[in-house]
Amino acid sequence: MNIFDGPYYLSIAGKLIETSDRFDVMNPATGTVLAQAPAASAAQLDEAIAAAKAAFRIWSALGYERRQVYLNAYADALEAHRDELARLLTLEQGKPLKTMAEPEVDQSISWIRQIAARRIPVEIVEETDDHIVELHHTPLGVVGAITPWNFPVLLALWKVAPALITGNTMVIKPSPFTPLSTLRFGQIAQSVLPPGVLSVVSGGNELGPQMTAHPDIAKISFTGSTETGKHVIRSAAGTIKRLTLEMGGNDAAIVLPDADWRSIVPALFWGAVGNSGQWCVGIKRLYVHRSFHADFVDAFVAYARRQKLGDGLDPEVTVGPVQNKMQFDKVVTFLDDIKANGQKIVLGGEIDPNRPGYFIPVTVVDNPPEDSKIVQEEQFAPIVPIIAYDDVDDVIERANDSPFGLGGSVWGRDTAAAVAVANRLETGMVWVNEIHTQGVDVPFGGHKQSGVGTEHGSEGRQLFTNPKTILIRK
Ligand code: NAD
Repeated sequence: MNIFDGPYYLSIAGKLIETSDRFDVMNPATGTVLAQAPAASAAQLDEAIAAAKAAFRIWSALGYERRQVYLNAYADALEAHRDELARLLTLEQGKPLKTMAEPEVDQSISWIRQIAARRIPVEIVEETDDHIVELHHTPLGVVGAITPWNFPVLLALWKVAPALITGNTMVIKPSPFTPLSTLRFGQIAQSVLPPGVLSVVSGGNELGPQMTAHPDIAKISFTGSTETGKHVIRSAAGTIKRLTLEMGGNDAAIVLPDADWRSIVPALFWGAVGNSGQWCVGIKRLYVHRSFHADFVDAFVAYARRQKLGDGLDPEVTVGPVQNKMQFDKVVTFLDDIKANGQKIVLGGEIDPNRPGYFIPVTVVDNPPEDSKIVQEEQFAPIVPIIAYDDVDDVIERANDSPFGLGGSVWGRDTAAAVAVANRLETGMVWVNEIHTQGVDVPFGGHKQSGVGTEHGSEGRQLFTNPKTILIRK
């Protein structure tokens, strides 16, 4: 395999740019420095935004068909680097190569091709003998993308594809914890896309507020924590930016009394523990009917024992480390709280102090109280609380009693009854007898403090445009 080993540059105005400052990027599986990333100055971020603004005029005028050709060429270029990108993703993020990193890169490439084929047609919203009204969707201008560290490739390309096909240009700021794969796919973009259409600028968190306040950015598409999302809203108010915010969650999975619970243990396990529990729509609270709760916990633990924790490059490893030291320290506060309150840990719970890297063993907490930290807060870790419930109405209320409203899942033999429960959950997405399926035409977004706006679907694509009404006398 062709292994890219840096150096890494910013991508601005079609060029690869050096910086005077660089910062360390760690490999979470070893706790050692993997590479250095460029730290953009405020002036370099300004240059990227100016180049995106200049490129917008030409790019937006190209029309869908020609932009589709560019995006398909970009997908082809990424595909040529697919193995290298997946390996880099594992190295900087920690996720297992075969089961997580390669699928993430593959899905991203496929996503670009699929979105490139989508259109937002002009709609005739009214027509009389002497008058016609057309609804167009015009691009916004420069979109600023701000992304987190859990799915750095997918979540960024989920923004790139719809922003670019609808005629916008983009500047991406990746998380300082995982900038490398984003810098790399930005670098690849420069050989395919016109200058300024897609720039990547890495650096510290301070670049975020500069983007959210910048007068030449028309929209911020943000994925990250709810706390940071609140900063984004405040800062973007000054220039009335369009915002799409994908934020935190505390998703409940509800296993109904009639569920064929033995057969769904693997799906529920991976729904909670995949990516080491670091996904926004991960199962963070698992509610299981009391009639089989004890047997379910045993089966879940038995399945968990068959997994191997370790470096994602090891083909036998199915659960990687958590991504960074800050997250590791946060997860320790959950474990400390569970122990301090005498909650029952039936698997895991002990971190090996001699092991380098940020490894948290898969931990199962048997029936912690509803008001415990592990049930109420977003752990973003492979710690699974399995909570017993007696009454379906009551469990729906508990699931809804949260400031978050991202996703959820319902599991039961009687599909209609499960869908009826899904209808009562106050979240943007609910999976019924499946989990984490996605698609370019499937809207994805949160209610309450989990989100503003939506990604994907025609609804998500339209949020990269302004509706523009043209009223014509015939
Ligand atoms: P984070 O909020 O710490 O960081 C996200 C991004 O915001 C980073 O690029 C960071 O540099 C940037 N940032 C930091 N301060 C900023 C500021 N003041 N203004 C603008 N940008 C700023 O989030 P994280 O820890 O990287 O990611 C984990 C969180 O993301 C979790 O809460 C998770 O649920 C959420 N998430 C949500 C989704 C979703 O689709 N809803 C998907 C993945 C992750």
